[in-house]
Amino acid sequence: MSDAVVVGSGPNGLAAAVLLARAGVGVEVYEAAGKLGGGCRTEDLTLPGYHHDSCAGAHPMAVSSPFFRAFDLAAHGVEMLRPEISYGHPLDGGRAAVAWRDLDRTVADLGSDGPAWRRIFEPLVRNWEAVVDVAMSDLRRPPRNPLTAARFFARLAEQASPLWDLRLRDRAAALFTGVSAHAIMPPRSFAPAGVGLLLGTLGHCGGWAIPRGGSQAIVDAMAADIERHGGRIHTGHRVDSLDEFPAARAVLLDTAPTELLRIAPRLPDSYRNRLRRFRYGGAACKVDFALSGPVPWQAAELAAAGTLHVAGTRAEIVAAERAVAAGRHAGNPFVLVIQPGVVDEGRAPGDNQTLYSYVHVPNGSERDVSAQAIDQIERFAPGFRDLIQAVNVRTAADMPVYNANYVGGDIGSGAMTLRQTVFRPTPRWNPHSTPLSGVYLCSSGTAPGAGVHGMCGTYAATHALRDRFGIRTPAQSLLSAPARG
Ligand SMILES: Cc1cc2nc3c(=O)[nH]c(=O)nc-3n(C[C@H](O)[C@H](O)[C@H](O)COP(=O)(O)OP(=O)(O)OC[C@H]3O[C@@H](n4cnc5c(N)ncnc54)[C@H](O)[C@@H]3O)c2cc1C
Repeated sequence: MSDAVVVGSGPNGLAAAVLLARAGVGVEVYEAAGKLGGGCRTEDLTLPGYHHDSCAGAHPMAVSSPFFRAFDLAAHGVEMLRPEISYGHPLDGGRAAVAWRDLDRTVADLGSDGPAWRRIFEPLVRNWEAVVDVAMSDLRRPPRNPLTAARFFARLAEQASPLWDLRLRDRAAALFTGVSAHAIMPPRSFAPAGVGLLLGTLGHCGGWAIPRGGSQAIVDAMAADIERHGGRIHTGHRVDSLDEFPAARAVLLDTAPTELLRIAPRLPDSYRNRLRRFRYGGAACKVDFALSGPVPWQAAELAAAGTLHVAGTRAEIVAAERAVAAGRHAGNPFVLVIQPGVVDEGRAPGDNQTLYSYVHVPNGSERDVSAQAIDQIERFAPGFRDLIQAVNVRTAADMPVYNANYVGGDIGSGAMTLRQTVFRPTPRWNPHSTPLSGVYLCSSGTAPGAGVHGMCGTYAATHALRDRFGIRTPAQSLLSAPARG
């Protein structure tokens, strides 16, 4: 019998298991799906030989989070390819706004909107590690660099207020609103502004990386490290009760809070009631394409963009996200597109391409919105439709069948309201612990939330190691020790 059990093999569950195994704790990971990786899997979704990322596809956080910087994906054989354009934003009339990895080039390209972009991002880009320290913290300790934290929160307050149009206009406004919309919420509020500032800053530093071969490479490298350190991973095993592990000294759940309610019948009523108040937010309908060639963007520079926010102007994005928040399908929805072929020629045979997209839809939506995705892309890339060889659709309602953590298709595993950003999943000094002794939550339903960064797993494992095994070695030291051969 193992010392510790991890339920779920998403990037957070695996991050926790890496730390436990490296600390010398015997760890077993149980994964419901037939393949490990949670929201970080790569599969042939359309045609044989076309390798699509089923969920996460672009990785600003997997190249910048404290967990992954210390784990060092490159040392584990994972090639993180960095498009010159982190994210692009097509506009009508063949115009575009572009976030180059190079901040100066971005500012120059934005013309009269450029200086405002520089004033917002330059101080954050210069101190990006401090930005990460704030945005990927569990918000339970003071920031290590208070000046950068103050700058971050000042900009956040501005972009969450009616003043947001004062500095950012036209193309710069669209560019920032596009990146903020990753929160799948009406953009002019705290969480989207924070998401926009974090992802925008990282776009000008490590970039929005795309792993060679697909996101699966990240989780496969983590799994190999766990096994090298004596851990074991079981796929195809859905855990239905915590009673399955009577002898484990620690159980870490890479599951949605809802799943904790389902598998832990002995939770105290007060905690159970608070977890029931956890809210899920806007959702995504995933639409993947096999194409016979690259997307013919009217704005030619977008051919070099790894990620694109296909949604039009700031006003259009606001309208689309408001519709989704109100439970309606937007007329012109927000479509997030990733072109892996820009850096990774091996995703499709020959000159063919894979194209990744998802469309923001209301939670629980059963609608196939591939036609809307195609219309939006065609709007900025006439001729796109003619390149389509095959399409695979996963609706928001189908998403939890694929991965129980995405309740109603909420790919963030919990709405990013201000309350659920600060207290995630529920108000509690240590959000990763539960009232059950030795049971921890380590999924993106806890702080710091969604994304492939491994930090929810890092915080939960750090607590479990200290409280259950008396091991106080910092995560950074565990990760920087040489991997076993
Ligand atoms: C469509 C989509 C696009 C995304 N795009 C990006 C992106 O480009 N970049 C980015 O950084 N992030 C992206 N994300 C978010 C990112 O994938 C998630 O935030 C991240 O995977 C969360 O990691 P996790 O370990 O907390 O949970 P998950 O990765 O969701 O893994 C949880 C695992 O637990 C398993 N599980 C749940 N319940 C049980 C049970 N009872 N028994 C056994 N196993 C169980 C599930 O099967 C799953 O494998 C995207 C997500 C989606 C869905």
